[in-house]
Amino acid sequence: MIWNTSVECMDRESMRKLQGERLRNVVEHVYHNCAPYRERMQQAGVKPSDIQSIDDIVKLPFSSKQDLRDYYPWGLLSVPQSEIVKIHASSGTTGKPIVMAYTRNDVANWAEAGTRCLAAYGLGKDDVIQVSYGYGLFTGGLGAHDASMNLGATTIPMSAGNTEKQLLMMRDLGATGLACTPSYALYLAEALEKSGIPRNEIKLKVGIFGAEPWTEEMRKEIEYRLGIKAYDIYGLTEISGPGVGFECECQNGTHLNEDLFFPEIVDPKTGEVLPEGTEGELVFTTLSKEGMPMIRFRTHDLTHLIYEKCSCGRTLVRMGRILGRTDDMLIIRGVNVFPSQVEAVLCTLEEVEPHFFITVDRVNNTDTFDIEVEVKEKYYSDVMSEMELLRKKIAHAIHSVVGIQPNIKPVAPNTIERSQGKAKRVNDKRKFK
Ligand code: ADP
Ligand code: ZN
Repeated sequence: MIWNTSVECMDRESMRKLQGERLRNVVEHVYHNCAPYRERMQQAGVKPSDIQSIDDIVKLPFSSKQDLRDYYPWGLLSVPQSEIVKIHASSGTTGKPIVMAYTRNDVANWAEAGTRCLAAYGLGKDDVIQVSYGYGLFTGGLGAHDASMNLGATTIPMSAGNTEKQLLMMRDLGATGLACTPSYALYLAEALEKSGIPRNEIKLKVGIFGAEPWTEEMRKEIEYRLGIKAYDIYGLTEISGPGVGFECECQNGTHLNEDLFFPEIVDPKTGEVLPEGTEGELVFTTLSKEGMPMIRFRTHDLTHLIYEKCSCGRTLVRMGRILGRTDDMLIIRGVNVFPSQVEAVLCTLEEVEPHFFITVDRVNNTDTFDIEVEVKEKYYSDVMSEMELLRKKIAHAIHSVVGIQPNIKPVAPNTIERSQGKAKRVNDKRKFK
């Protein structure tokens, strides 16, 4: 179902007009209410009056995660703090967290964006949605929660963890929708298999999965194991949280709520805007946010945009699957490697689980590339020669996709730590040398 037809199916010309008006407002707002933005614009020689249409966005300077760190916690606040009704923080792995502040309207707009996603997955007020993203500073839990409440669905605020209870609630309350990271979905699928609960006692039909990159192969794996339809939901703390983008029933790209979050694709090196369809770094400008608007925020996410109308009837622009983040990309022996490529390959091999852990190091001035891969019970063996054959098979399959030879370490079933939130799959020891 289309939640907000007037926006989701708006013709391109009207959409650009709306985006232009909103951009003008947000630029006026930050120029007058947020010193760092004003200074940045003055340095770039841009005044609010230079912004007349959405095409003028290219005149504005970029903002980044680093700005949010430099002005931590309140420096980019654009309203009096008394207008802020809640905060979230990004999981940021190093240094200070990134704090985001929301006004009442910001929370309402975010919930609207999230509700459009849930409706697109075919969910409605008769559904029971189990929210198993972590609740707290992370935007996943409360973001999905507000969207589900706004939709009118029965919302179970499970948060992540406590697997037994997850399965119990899922069964007893008849959850039809499950919102969590794809890696946690896989973990719950395994737990369900082991629990002995017959599948027909579980009503689950739709997965609301995101917060980390996942591949088409992973989707198939989860759909098969949980017996559901799995949809992508995209979001990031700086722009609001889950609900920035969503897949429709066509699953032919992720629609972006571009009336609220304006996307551009730029060259990650030069910052130049790239032509439609070209792969590059995604940049967002929040068009309605009051608390901490972000102007041309560099996401580091790599993807491309598709403006063609979708068969679902929506005109909202779509983005391709996120290949990874510029800051997640590993350069091993000069070759660009994304963990998502490894995931995709492992999902196609019958003998292994898509649980893996990459360790990169530098020994004698050469990069090492080790991957621990979990072998399925049925194929795990103490016989060295059997494991050696499997090792070679996996290495060959990965080599043919990423272009360099990994050192595969097959490990026993259930030895790689399962993730209940965003999966951590890489240890790059070179960074600390
Ligand atoms: P952090 O940057 O600390 O991980 P966030 O929780 O804000 O904090 O994470 C946002 C990032 O998560 C996005 O920029 C993107 O890289 C990733 N992400 C979120 N949803 C998806 C998705 N559906 N597909 C791929 N990546 C996603
Ligand atoms: Zn569509």
